[in-house]
Amino acid sequence: MKYVLVSGGVISGIGKGVIASSTGLLLKTIGLKVSAIKIDPYMNVDAGTMAPTEHGEVFVLNDGGEVDLDLGNYERYLNITLTRENNITTGKIYQHVIERERRGDYLGKTVQVIPHLTDAIQDWIERVARIPVDETSEEPDACIIELGGTVGDIESAPFIEAMRQLRRRVGKGSFLQIHVSLVPVVNGEQKTKPTQQAIRDVRSAGLAPDLIACRCQEPLSKVTVEKVAAFCDVAHEQVVAVHDVNSTYHVPLLLEQQKLIRLLTPVLELEKLEIAPALV
Ligand code: ADP
Repeated sequence: MKYVLVSGGVISGIGKGVIASSTGLLLKTIGLKVSAIKIDPYMNVDAGTMAPTEHGEVFVLNDGGEVDLDLGNYERYLNITLTRENNITTGKIYQHVIERERRGDYLGKTVQVIPHLTDAIQDWIERVARIPVDETSEEPDACIIELGGTVGDIESAPFIEAMRQLRRRVGKGSFLQIHVSLVPVVNGEQKTKPTQQAIRDVRSAGLAPDLIACRCQEPLSKVTVEKVAAFCDVAHEQVVAVHDVNSTYHVPLLLEQQKLIRLLTPVLELEKLEIAPALV
């Protein structure tokens, strides 16, 4: 199983969901079966009790699960059918651990965020990633994990720690992280400072993004890409530019033009899989 974590910094609502779905779509075009999991660090057990005026569409899945609108994006982009378990919230994972505690699964132990909650998050992800999502009923090859909110929020801390551990648990060649950041344009100038800060935050949390996706209202200039690469200490190919487009269904093309699959290949060891070579 290959895991692609899509996390975000600076502010929420910068297009993590669209980038996560688009990355999944590109993996699908090379012949992989792709599933997706959305992590929402809020306390609600599901999105069914949240006001659509505040939170946006509450997407209803085939199994009746009332979930975040990003799962609707995944289903539409990837032509898959997900279950309520593909959406993990703080409320849902705590409920799961507390039910186990009441049942006596941890008898004698002090139940703690680390390791009990973080282990439960990883076990949940490894189990749900394997659930078939299309008519072939075969196990997926890859799973996109989108972490809602922004890195640095108190609410997301247990999930970030779980992701750090998951990277070690699944080992080399099976985990890649894309961190989405914002490049604001102020007085006509593309500003990279928020991205530098966001990368510092994510690294201090113990994560090491393989790619930095920069959302910007206009195409990123070469100078901006070089600046992000230099200050964040990555190669300029690892900086992926995602500017505003008329339809979010153009984002997969933007990523394809920047040879995203070629960037994912060495980290996820895709060359060892039997995949269509066309896009690589
Ligand atoms: P997040 O997951 O970070 O909260 P979303 O993926 O839900 O963000 O996107 C937030 C909003 O921005 C949505 O309305 C989406 O349609 C829009 N959006 C995302 N990416 C782009 C883009 N490249 N160009 C234009 N609009 C975009």
